[in-house]
Amino acid sequence: MKKLFRFWAVTLLGLLVLTSCAPPSRTGWPGWFRPAEAAPVATLAPTATRSPSSTYTPTPTLTKTPTPTCTIPPTRTPQPTRTPRPTRTPAPTATATPTVTLTPVLTFTSAALLSPLATPTLPMTTTPELTATPVLTATPELTMTPELTVTPTLSPTATPPPIYPPPPEEVHVPILMYHYISELPADADVYRVNLTVVPEMFEAQLRYLYEQGYHTVTLQDVYDALATGRPLPEKSIVLTFDDGYKDAHINAMPLLQKYGFVGEFFVLATPAHYESPQYLTWAEMRLMAEAGMSVQAHGRDHYDLTNRAYDFLVYQILGVKEAVEAHTGQPVRFFCYPSGRYDEDTLAVVESAGYLGAVTTQWGATQRLDNRYTWPRVRINGTWSLETFAGILADFAAGE
Ligand SMILES: [Zn+2]
Repeated sequence: MKKLFRFWAVTLLGLLVLTSCAPPSRTGWPGWFRPAEAAPVATLAPTATRSPSSTYTPTPTLTKTPTPTCTIPPTRTPQPTRTPRPTRTPAPTATATPTVTLTPVLTFTSAALLSPLATPTLPMTTTPELTATPVLTATPELTMTPELTVTPTLSPTATPPPIYPPPPEEVHVPILMYHYISELPADADVYRVNLTVVPEMFEAQLRYLYEQGYHTVTLQDVYDALATGRPLPEKSIVLTFDDGYKDAHINAMPLLQKYGFVGEFFVLATPAHYESPQYLTWAEMRLMAEAGMSVQAHGRDHYDLTNRAYDFLVYQILGVKEAVEAHTGQPVRFFCYPSGRYDEDTLAVVESAGYLGAVTTQWGATQRLDNRYTWPRVRINGTWSLETFAGILADFAAGE
């Protein structure tokens, strides 16, 4: 009986092992063992030969579904490669802030050291632990505030141009014409006598002009009066000296300076170039110009300028102007026709050469802008007495 039970038990165990390891069928059972079709275990019931005592209790049907223990584990998905961590930037080392609070230990060596600044309020019986914060109330008050009191010196205030009254149509200024201011030579002819005023007479005339209140002006002053309206002084007069004789520098200029007068000297270039003994040199002209005299032009030579070619006129009229300006350093703006002779060509060249005016030997004392290249003059005769001289000026003053 026991053997029989053992036999069945072993058989059941073997079946269990087989079913667990066999590949599962569609019904979950091994292919060779299907419970639905298999004969019930009860058919394995003991045959009739068995003994009735063997009350066999049929083993329960194996309802246990076999767990598929042999399932292949899924292949592991490879983990992503780990990105390396960034290297840690080293943290800045903490700079240790010195917290050393320096409590000043005031060692009073001498009270004189603190003399000007700290008012020694502490008594000298202080304990050595001077916790007194040094009350350095002596903040250095920099009183050096540079107060820039720069007052802008607007010194060169441009003087506005003067406002003149409207210029007159004409002025009446006697332009006296002298030649020689010298003694008469022994062989003087009538021409030389007429052209020569001896220095004594010349000074008498100057004294008379001075006493009568005349004011010597230049031809530039006359021109300015007519062109701009700049007024002329009362009783204006112009003193001109033709030909540039050497006595102009020796005799005339010193007497003019004696009375504070100014003279207008019409000089020649060629005698100066050759340093002719009877004429002014370039150096003398410069000295006269530097002395305040007006040195103007009379021609390169002393030729008659009528019926001349253009080149000749330019040479005589412009040539002397450039030469005198170069040697005196002053502008030459007025011309004097030699022997008082001129024509239309002469007038045109004088104007185109840059002259502002010119004087003649025509008698008169009326100047206008429209006749500025033919201004008349008053020829002084060497044979005149002082009364004649004074009478002629009186007639011009009366408006004759
Ligand atoms: Zn002359």
